[in-house]
Amino acid sequence: MRIVLATHNPHKVSEFGQIVAATRSDLTVVGYDGPEPVEDGVTFEQNALLKARAASAHTGLPALADDSGIAVDVLGGSPGVFSAYWAGQRKDDVANRDLLLDQLRDIADPHRAARYVSVIALVAPDGREWTVRGEWPGRLAQAPAGSGGFGYDPVFVPDGQDAPERTVGEYDDAEKQSQSHRARAFVALVPLLAEL
Ligand code: IMP
Repeated sequence: MRIVLATHNPHKVSEFGQIVAATRSDLTVVGYDGPEPVEDGVTFEQNALLKARAASAHTGLPALADDSGIAVDVLGGSPGVFSAYWAGQRKDDVANRDLLLDQLRDIADPHRAARYVSVIALVAPDGREWTVRGEWPGRLAQAPAGSGGFGYDPVFVPDGQDAPERTVGEYDDAEKQSQSHRARAFVALVPLLAEL
């Protein structure tokens, strides 16, 4: 059986493909090239479901979609679903993280708690729907460090590290992929695949 992934990003298709293949060898992840809905939800769950529903309705196949971002405690969970566009519609990673650092300029380390969040939605053609969530807790750095990863990685310091602490921008890819919010959401997704 095929399962469609509601993304145009080939990297994500391959990443999801490997996870699904390890669990259900009878399922093949395929990319999606149909219409995309307006992501007008106000939670990660709502946006992931919007994308998965559209892909399932268009293809008649079960569909997966993900939505992710960074949530800062002292900002009440923002940028949250607005992470990609925090500094405006340009979708500029550097401008986004510079704005976030500026907003927290006077906030000391104990109050800079933040988390990466990844939500994956699964929608079956018969209308059944599930969401799973992975979170990676940490805090906002005082200044960017490292050039690895993307987005907020140079300003996000995961919890639970030995000193000296590093930002995700200073992690290598394998280290990030073994701990990340997406990895944690994938773990939660695996048992749901048995429902299809
Ligand atoms: P999307 O869900 O792939 O569209 O990601 C939304 C936005 O959240 C990205 O543009 C980044 O700003 C942020 N984000 C999500 N995951 C990560 C991550 O692993 N590292 C850094 N930024 C991330």
